[in-house]
Amino acid sequence: MKVWYKGRKIEILPSKIVCVARNYAAHANEMQENLPSEPVFFIKPRSALVPHKSTVVLPAYSNHVEHEVELAVVIKRRLKNAKEVNLKKDVMGFSIILDMTARDVQREAKNQGLPWTKAKCFDTSAPFGPKIVEPDKLDWRKLEISLRVNGELRQQGNTSQMVFGIEELIAKASEIFTLERYDIIATGTPAGVGVVKPGDIVEAEISGIGKLCVRIGPPKNS
Ligand code: MG
Repeated sequence: MKVWYKGRKIEILPSKIVCVARNYAAHANEMQENLPSEPVFFIKPRSALVPHKSTVVLPAYSNHVEHEVELAVVIKRRLKNAKEVNLKKDVMGFSIILDMTARDVQREAKNQGLPWTKAKCFDTSAPFGPKIVEPDKLDWRKLEISLRVNGELRQQGNTSQMVFGIEELIAKASEIFTLERYDIIATGTPAGVGVVKPGDIVEAEISGIGKLCVRIGPPKNS
């Protein structure tokens, strides 16, 4: 996928997108979930990625897809069991990602004790971009993060409200699997998640990074 980095467009092909559930207390609250004692990870495939200004195709098997705006971390080099994470050496930069979620399907999976794959991993469920900002150009601990649908403010928070910070997320994830160059970590969403409908324009904004815009398209059966 093409993304802006240091003033030019580069191609990144992450081996995986590592997502974190419930990393903001206010969002865990609205989902009526407890805060976890360690990060809860799940993975989206690369096929979920779409760039800035693309269309999210709603899966035909869901009637309720929701937006989740998240700070994205792009990994710079291979990491396994990373104990001391060094942002400058280990992180290429920060960007914006949408963790689009078929909430009705996820609820059903939760009730049945099944994995979230069908709810979280569909094609176009991970819009990303428009650019990657290097770690020394911003302080990830105090970024305003917000999302608008058709101009109306839906989500608003600050990365200072994260339960687990970037270094800890990287360290914990790399205990489970090897993080490869260009892998993306989606660091959780603040409160205010809500449904999207065909024709909606979604604008996700993070201070110091920019604005990621996508259009919601109608469902497709194939
Ligand atoms: Mg999420």
